[in-house]
Amino acid sequence: MNRPVQPNQPGWYYRLSSFFRNKFGEPVYKIPIDAGFSCPNRDGTIGYSGCSYCYNPSFAPSSKSSSPIPTQLSITEQINRGKKKKSQAKHLAYFQSYTNTYAPLMYLKELYDEALSSPEVIGLSIATRSDCVTEKTLDMLESYTQHCHLWIEYGLQSAHDETLQQINRGHDTASFAHAVKMTRRRGIYTCAHIILGLPGETNTMILETIDFINQLGIDGIKFHHLQVIKNTTLADQYKQGKVTVYEKCEDYIPVLCDCLEKLAPHIVIHRLASQTTSAELLIAPHWPEGAGQIASAVETELRTRGAYQGCRYKI
Ligand code: SF4
Repeated sequence: MNRPVQPNQPGWYYRLSSFFRNKFGEPVYKIPIDAGFSCPNRDGTIGYSGCSYCYNPSFAPSSKSSSPIPTQLSITEQINRGKKKKSQAKHLAYFQSYTNTYAPLMYLKELYDEALSSPEVIGLSIATRSDCVTEKTLDMLESYTQHCHLWIEYGLQSAHDETLQQINRGHDTASFAHAVKMTRRRGIYTCAHIILGLPGETNTMILETIDFINQLGIDGIKFHHLQVIKNTTLADQYKQGKVTVYEKCEDYIPVLCDCLEKLAPHIVIHRLASQTTSAELLIAPHWPEGAGQIASAVETELRTRGAYQGCRYKI
């Protein structure tokens, strides 16, 4: 893979690996954890059918709650299985599956403490919904910032409420903005997930989502391209011809690079595209390119444009 270029040079974007090297002087690896959580958009608290694109086992292979092959591994066992063999390599425990703050506080603390009891784990990355954190949840999480590195990842997907309704997110953009504000106030790093290519969205709307993220002062972003996964509402809509996807990776790269050009330069890129772990569950699109090839394609596109992350960012 190409050596990362320097900030503000054509081809540059702020990779998570660079962020970790700047902060810790060495790589930090993430270990995906399935702690057996549920989701209020699935258990009936908000809804039963979930977000229209979501089938958790497609991106969380160890997913306990609805995987066809449930695992019963403890958090410690998952960490031991996921950590790098290199001795003393640093890791973050990535609470990935479903909604990882959706439980009583004492129980959450038990789980997070268990993850941090492994000497290789220097911090947590916690994926959740913006409507599943309260001041009390965040007070508890803030206490971890004294001794560990902490990210909270919030699903946004789009800054357009009509899109959020269409994909059945069950919360609006105001909820997201409120959660980010509460989280940032406590010195916790925030990461937003967004999906490019959602039904009904134009490229202009996608760039408006980037503006929204810039305005909130978010620290990190995960880009996903829309994928149609079996057992989802989106799959039904796709079969009915109501949904289109980026059929080829080269259709997606220019849109992604437009976003990177507008994105504030301090925002760390955690991911450039969706990573489905099960080819059997993926209906569309089928790209031959892996993560490394996508990263190279982005760098090449930015170089060709003479562009880099934030070159069109306006404060
Ligand atoms: S994407 Fe997240 S919030 Fe939406 S249904 Fe799936 S687990 Fe719940």
